[in-house]
Amino acid sequence: MNSEITIIMDSNSENESFARLSVAAFVSRLNPTVEEINDIKTAVSEAVTNAIIHGYSDKNGKIYLMCKIIEREVVIQIKDYGIGIDDIKKAMEPLYTSKPDMERSGIGFTVMETFMDKIFVESRKDYGTTVTMTKNLIAS
Ligand code: ATP
Ligand code: MG
Repeated sequence: MNSEITIIMDSNSENESFARLSVAAFVSRLNPTVEEINDIKTAVSEAVTNAIIHGYSDKNGKIYLMCKIIEREVVIQIKDYGIGIDDIKKAMEPLYTSKPDMERSGIGFTVMETFMDKIFVESRKDYGTTVTMTKNLIAS
């Protein structure tokens, strides 16, 4: 059965793990493999972390998480109303980071691209960022 959830949460690291575990719990009805569930958790973690540290620069803001199941396709959308991204193409380049001094390595988007089938980023400076990712699970 197709189904959808939305979670609106404050931008803090406790909610990063809440987001990751919530999506894992929601998707578990599809009997994903351990690898699939780990891939999804990792991708959600990267996107939510980006919203917290880049979008809202560690200040408080709301993060909107949507997860939709369509047959065996999982669609995940993570939205913030933070600072936005000036140059999306450059931001998505492997190893690019705007915070090189803060132990960031610039691999978040690359991780999302690797672990999900598709990722689509929409952003506008000062308006926020929406990351949409999809993954088709293998037949159970
Ligand atoms: P890492 O993920 O390895 O810790 P990182 O977060 O800098 O480092 P990416 O996740 O690939 O690397 O993101 C690349 C860059 O894109 C970031 O440095 C930041 O400038 C920008 N960015 C990503 N997500 C957002 C967001 N939600 N809002 C504003 N800027 C973002
Ligand atoms: Mg990142």
